[in-house]
Parts: sequence; structure tokens; C-alpha cells
Amino acid sequence: MYIIFLGAPGAGKGTQAASVARKLGLVHIASGDLFRQALEQGKELGLKAKSYMEKGVLVPDQITIDMVLERISAPDSGGGAILDGFPRNLKQAEALDEALAQQGKAIDKVVYIKVSEEELLKRLSGRRVCRQCQTPCHVSDSPPRVEGRCDKCGGELYQRPDDTEESIKRRLEVYSSETAPLVDYYGRVGKLVEIDGEGGVDKVERRIVAALGGERL
Ligand code: ADP
Ligand code: ZN
Repeated sequence: MYIIFLGAPGAGKGTQAASVARKLGLVHIASGDLFRQALEQGKELGLKAKSYMEKGVLVPDQITIDMVLERISAPDSGGGAILDGFPRNLKQAEALDEALAQQGKAIDKVVYIKVSEEELLKRLSGRRVCRQCQTPCHVSDSPPRVEGRCDKCGGELYQRPDDTEESIKRRLEVYSSETAPLVDYYGRVGKLVEIDGEGGVDKVERRIVAALGGERL
């Protein structure tokens, strides 16, 4: 099963994709995390992506498509995956459809998480992320038990360099112009599932699991 999580920056894609993937026994593939890991490891891919990410614009399609398709073809993704942050425009969506079709596979569902712009801004500006396990928290909404430390693994929390006001604004613009058209693209083929992304993490997760077929999964 291949499921895409679609939504604006701050909609909760990463958090929900990680927990739903665990529930369904699927691999969680987050394009942004792949770039950040490559950068932490000092790889050329990470250095190439860095300046785009800091500005809040998309990393060029070919770099991104190659990276994600390579990850999807790794043995552990053979049983399916949840894609988070990819595809982010029509060209990436078409490349993905084509690559899966070549293996006799296809996207099953697209979970579109909808959140108001006001809520997105609030979430992104207070977000902190664990350097080790990438789990996010929020300085006022879900503060860590120990300041500066991840509740889950004790790793160091930091503010992503693209969670600055300027960069957040840019990312939301890029989302509207480039990524939002994918809602129609997947809606037309009947794969879109729209989820209200406001409310607690657990509540949103229950909505997603129910929409994906509930207990049957
Ligand atoms: P968010 O969804 O909160 O913006 P991500 O971690 O998904 O966070 O993405 C961070 C940045 O990584 C993006 O602003 C972009 O520069 C780059 N990126 C991630 N995924 C893609 C993609 N599919 N295509 C191009 N750039 C991407
Ligand atoms: Zn952690």
C-alpha cells in the first residue's frame, strides 16, 4: 500500500505520517527528513538542498525525484510506504505515478490534512524538532518535559532554520502555488481523503485511521 500525506507546512503531516506508518506497518518516507539527514551527514545531496530549504523554496525536481525514488525502491519499502512531503508539485506527482506503474504499483490513497492559515502560522513559529529522531514539539502547546530535550529520546531540540518568519511565509506561498494543485490532481482520480487537521494529535490520528478503513487496516 502506498499512501501520500498532503498538506501545508505545519498541517501535521510528519507527526501523523510517522504514527500511522507505525500502526499500519509501513515505512515512513519524509523528503524533508531525507534532505536534513543528508546535510547532517555532510553529503553532497544535503549541501545542494541546504540553500533552497533555508529560503523556503522547493529543491529542484530532479534532485528530489531521484532521492525519493531511490528510497522507495529500497527493499524495506517493497511492502508499501507513507510518503510525507513528496510529491510537492505536478511534475513530482507524474514522476512518482510513472515509477510506480513501471513496477506494477500505484498510489492507493492521498490523505489531505487541512488546517487554517492562522493555525499553521502558530504551529510553525513555536515548533521545535529533535535533532536525533525528528519528533516535533511546540514551545507552548506541547512543551517538552525537560527544556530543550526530546521527550521521546532525550535528543537536543532545535528550531529549524526554515521556521523563521520570512521562510515560513515563503513556504506557505510555495505551498499554495505549487502543491495545492495536487488536491485536484488526486481528487480527479478518486484517491483523495480530506481530513480536518485541527484539534489534538490523537483526535486527528483517529480521523485518519477511520478514513483509511479503520480496523480493517
Ligand atoms: P514542511 O512541510 O514543514 O515545509 P519539510 O521537512 O517537508 O517541511 O520540507 C522542508 C523543505 O525541504 C522544503 O521547504 C523544501 O525546501 C525541501 N523539500 C522537502 N520535500 C521536497 C520536495 N518534495 N520537493 C522539493 N523540495 C522539498
Ligand atoms: Zn528525539
